[in-house]
Amino acid sequence: MIDTGSAADRLAAVRDAVGRVARTAGRDPGSIELIAVSKTWDADAIRPLIAVGQRSFGENRVQEAEAKWPGLMAGTPGIRLHLVGQLQSNKAVEAVALFDVIHSVDRLSLVTALGKAVAAAGKRPDCYLQVNVGAEPQKGGCAIADIPLLLDAARKAGLPVIGLMCVPPADIEAAPFFALLAKLATDNGLAGLSMGMSGDFETAVLLGATAIRVGSALFGAR
Ligand SMILES: *Cc1c(COP(=O)(O)O)cnc(C)c1O
Repeated sequence: MIDTGSAADRLAAVRDAVGRVARTAGRDPGSIELIAVSKTWDADAIRPLIAVGQRSFGENRVQEAEAKWPGLMAGTPGIRLHLVGQLQSNKAVEAVALFDVIHSVDRLSLVTALGKAVAAAGKRPDCYLQVNVGAEPQKGGCAIADIPLLLDAARKAGLPVIGLMCVPPADIEAAPFFALLAKLATDNGLAGLSMGMSGDFETAVLLGATAIRVGSALFGAR
């Protein structure tokens, strides 16, 4: 993606690309949620996207989001805020209070903390189970073998699990990992697939993504 022009131009270009690929795959472009990942960008960088109608945004740190978003949301109804980064259990209460969707549910201790937080808040953000599809030790996400157990625990804890999320290994072809995540979702009866970032969202859409998380292609390099 060429890093010139306005954020609104870049948003239009990404939307066009999503629409084109979706139609190629015989999918309804409207079934794919484009999440603008605004981590590290300040309110002034975000406002132009809100002004042209973007409503889904992603952040990876609870504290950063708490500092930025209440002000931005005050003037704009309908913002849908997604937590796409790793979540510490001791931030579960804050995360439930601020976010509409949590993409990084990946271990039992976090399920327990989120379960308590949703019970206390009376608010239930949609959740994705994050899967470590490349079995990378440094990365968040549960092991593939642990999905059924974690899904069961999340449901018992009252978390609405809508799908699976992954961040595939960097620097190698993402398609096999996206295909794998799609199969795992089907096997577990889940419809949602949060996959695809700036470098590979078109591939993700071809392979069934229902939510793509795009940062630098919209805002520029971080
Ligand atoms: C930062 C981030 C993104 C967006 O990445 P880009 O390459 O800038 O599009 C997507 N998902 C997660 C989990 C991220 O942390």
